[in-house]
Amino acid sequence: MKIPFVTFKPLEAELDRELRAAFERVFTRSWYIEGIEDETFEKAFAEYCGTKYCVGVGNGLDALMLALKALEIGEGDEVIVPSNTYIATALAVTYIGATPVFVEPDIRTFNIDPTKIEEKITKRTKAVMPVHLYGQACDMDSIMEIAKKHNLFVVEDCAQAHGATYKGKLIGSFGDAAGFSFYPGKNLGALGDAGATVTNDEELAKKVRALGNYGSDYKYHHVYKGNNSRLDELQAAFLSAKLPLIEKVNENRRDIANKYLAGINNKEIILPFVPDYTVPVWHIFGIRCKRRTELEKYLNDSGIGTNKHYPIPMHLQECYKDLGFKEGDFPIAEEVSATELSIPMYYGMADEEVQYVIDKVNEFK
Ligand SMILES: *Cc1c(COP(=O)(O)O)cnc(C)c1O
Repeated sequence: MKIPFVTFKPLEAELDRELRAAFERVFTRSWYIEGIEDETFEKAFAEYCGTKYCVGVGNGLDALMLALKALEIGEGDEVIVPSNTYIATALAVTYIGATPVFVEPDIRTFNIDPTKIEEKITKRTKAVMPVHLYGQACDMDSIMEIAKKHNLFVVEDCAQAHGATYKGKLIGSFGDAAGFSFYPGKNLGALGDAGATVTNDEELAKKVRALGNYGSDYKYHHVYKGNNSRLDELQAAFLSAKLPLIEKVNENRRDIANKYLAGINNKEIILPFVPDYTVPVWHIFGIRCKRRTELEKYLNDSGIGTNKHYPIPMHLQECYKDLGFKEGDFPIAEEVSATELSIPMYYGMADEEVQYVIDKVNEFK
């Protein structure tokens, strides 16, 4: 059996008509930037997230970066980010001229460990960016309490967690703002790059929109030295076609994850731990294994696609040499990097495919 790490085919087949109709609609209108599709999707997505405002932008990195910029964080400031995340979280901080300050994750959940945040707070700390990694909510009560005590902004990185909840409330509605990515592989994915910032703060929403539109509040009038990062009409139309299915998609992913959790019993494998406070959406199903390279090879040789999230932790990335970290500085992030293996997880995975993955993981010796 051949099982890819991810495929969009089952969802795209189900939405074939809607996606083609979305293209037709935009093409017929011949209007491609800042139009009715953008407006319609933003409204629907804000409603879905339970936030007042949604600003469509070019991608997830910009969604985070523009939110930080709108909060007037910049040169000389520090922003707390997890040591285990996709590099975009840290780059959003770097791009506004601030410094990312890494905090180790809880190895059981892979998410930022709130008990380790306060020791990293300095006079320069302006914000904390919890990342709901792999589709599981962070411990938001603890994070919000720390932020309140130290007067810090909270910008949630929701790129992997569309629809995940913390104590019954959707992520993205806890902080001052949240950034979503609609990169094709995300739980809600466009047919290209796209992203959105959501917030309950009207002024902040306006500012993010202006910053992503050349710093312009109205045509040819520029208040800020802005960026060009807008959600285009085609992507907005595709996203509107996909949004109604997000709950079905997430439910399907949970179903697959529950089969993995119940079926995988190999003693060499550590399964992801789900705290009671979150209903995850399983963007990634990450298992851990001391003999990761051998497991990876065994699965790949058995026709199963895998991935690693993430093979090099940020503090050891070449681009962050300037921060001066060395191996051993973030042992938990390093442990995750060395042992994590992501197994197939996508909407429409057949039961036999899920069972095949379980069997192969269990057969690994
Ligand atoms: C995908 C991702 C991003 C960036 O999103 P893009 O749309 O690719 O720019 C940011 N943070 C995390 C955790 C991500 O997984």
